[in-house]
Amino acid sequence: MWSLTMATYDYDLFVIGGGSGGVRAGRLAGAMGKRVGLAEEYRMGGTCVIRGCVPKKLYVYASQFGESFEDAAGYGWSVGTSTFDWRTLVDAKEKEITRLEGLYRKGLEGSKVEIFASRAELVDAHTIELKSTGQRVTAERILIATGGRVNRNTSMPGHEYCISSDEAFDLAELPKSIVIAGGGYIAVEFANIFHGLGVETTLVYRGKEILSRFDHDLRVLLSEAMTAKGIRIVTETVFNAVRKEGDRLAVELSNGETLIVDQAMLAIGRLPNSEGVGLDKAGVALSKGDHGAVIVDEYSRTSQPHIYAVGDVTDRVQLTPVAIHEAMCFLETVYKDNPTRPDHDLIPTVVFSQPEIGTVGMSEDEAIKSYPEIEVYRAHFRPMKNTLSGRADKMLMKLVVDGKSRKVLGAHILGPDAGEMAQLIGIALKAGASKDDFDRTMAVHPSAAEEFVTMYNPTYRVVNGERI
Ligand code: FAD
Ligand code: NDP
Repeated sequence: MWSLTMATYDYDLFVIGGGSGGVRAGRLAGAMGKRVGLAEEYRMGGTCVIRGCVPKKLYVYASQFGESFEDAAGYGWSVGTSTFDWRTLVDAKEKEITRLEGLYRKGLEGSKVEIFASRAELVDAHTIELKSTGQRVTAERILIATGGRVNRNTSMPGHEYCISSDEAFDLAELPKSIVIAGGGYIAVEFANIFHGLGVETTLVYRGKEILSRFDHDLRVLLSEAMTAKGIRIVTETVFNAVRKEGDRLAVELSNGETLIVDQAMLAIGRLPNSEGVGLDKAGVALSKGDHGAVIVDEYSRTSQPHIYAVGDVTDRVQLTPVAIHEAMCFLETVYKDNPTRPDHDLIPTVVFSQPEIGTVGMSEDEAIKSYPEIEVYRAHFRPMKNTLSGRADKMLMKLVVDGKSRKVLGAHILGPDAGEMAQLIGIALKAGASKDDFDRTMAVHPSAAEEFVTMYNPTYRVVNGERI
């Protein structure tokens, strides 16, 4: 079989896309001695490294210094006049992502993966064309890891004047004002980043409350905190049209208002990057409708048994660790004779808002739908650091517990270091911890996290949908 493969195909595995999922699969398959080719049309590292998680987190840090300078006064510090230079941040970010891009490339080269700096398209079920040169190569197996792309709302008049997260990191100058459409991760994170950097910021969301997939308490309290900081949140409203008004933009909203701003940003979701990859020519089925996600089975196998797909292009859960996990499961299944299904249960996740959200497991509303009796433990308090600084921001820690088995179903945090806590509490939930396990865990004092092990009595119970 091995010699047949060697003779028949140029590669054992060809990976299309050098992002979170593709790089991990390519590097480890190469390290296992497989002959691997990988094509990346833009920059190695993909969305997360180049224009997603990494630059986003750097910009979150940048946007937090203003509050830190203010807070310092309560602790006796006098901070002189502070100024912020956007260009310095953009250049420093660029240097860092270029460094990371180099590390990704080096990792692949170290595993003897042949890298093609080119767009790749399938010509048939085993043949890939490299668009930069027209070269055609064949592979026994193919991994589609082409990620996602911004939903640019092309049916909206003036959509072409709007930026997205792709452009936001590298704007020639920091705008004085911005309006952002959306109420998900990107809209909320960027609203806080721009506001923290001194930009007059408006968020326009179509629903009643931002972050529709999160626990109700987190949504309400974050919304209140953002509003108190000075971010304007307009709900039950969408962009109707955007037009040029001199060197500014006029954004017409569905509530009848027109906002005149320097920049308008769309953050209304990301679509699977499945167009123009030749998937039809290879016989790979896509989901119907606008999204066109690559359909995969529980092992990430497409409708063609030798073609697999991982990450955002499959539209399962659009997060970097998920794409990486799916890639690892693909390797186990295909090259280690150990069929492994990606596990999408209890994924901890963070919104890098200010204050931050960290969450894992079921929201209170989800738990009410699935369990006849739940207990809710809730602490809403001012974190110690905010006492001397005088900052009004409060913190929320919340546990949702099955009233019968006492199993902890969900943990929700709003406040400093929420993401770091969600990662660790995710381990406890994954291990099936009960509320009694939490109660018998010693507290770390003084800390905010100790609330999770000192909330002895439920704040309320919900029995058959009724709060008691
Ligand atoms: P990608 O990382 O998108 O990689 C796909 C790659 O394929 C790209 O480099 C693309 O250029 C290339 N490609 C596409 N088509 C072709 C082709 N035909 N030929 C060759 N190359 C091709 N996730 C988190 O977990 N935490 C975060 O904090 C976070 N923040 C984010 C912030 C922003 C602004 C955005 C946009 C996303 C964020 N994400 C975050 C999501 C995360 O970036 C994605 O879930 C992750 O990158 C998906 O990995 P992937 O391998 O599926 O695709
Ligand atoms: P999200 O899915 O998080 O949010 C999309 C938002 O746009 C929602 O508020 C949605 O409303 C709204 N929306 C959707 N369609 C329309 C429309 N036609 N008109 C107006 N509003 C609309 O997507 P993002 O773009 O924010 O981010 C993409 C993905 O990237 C995220 O889902 C996440 O998986 C990942 N990401 C992760 C981050 C992290 O881990 N910290 C950070 C950034 C991105 P509604 O809720 O009502 O459907």
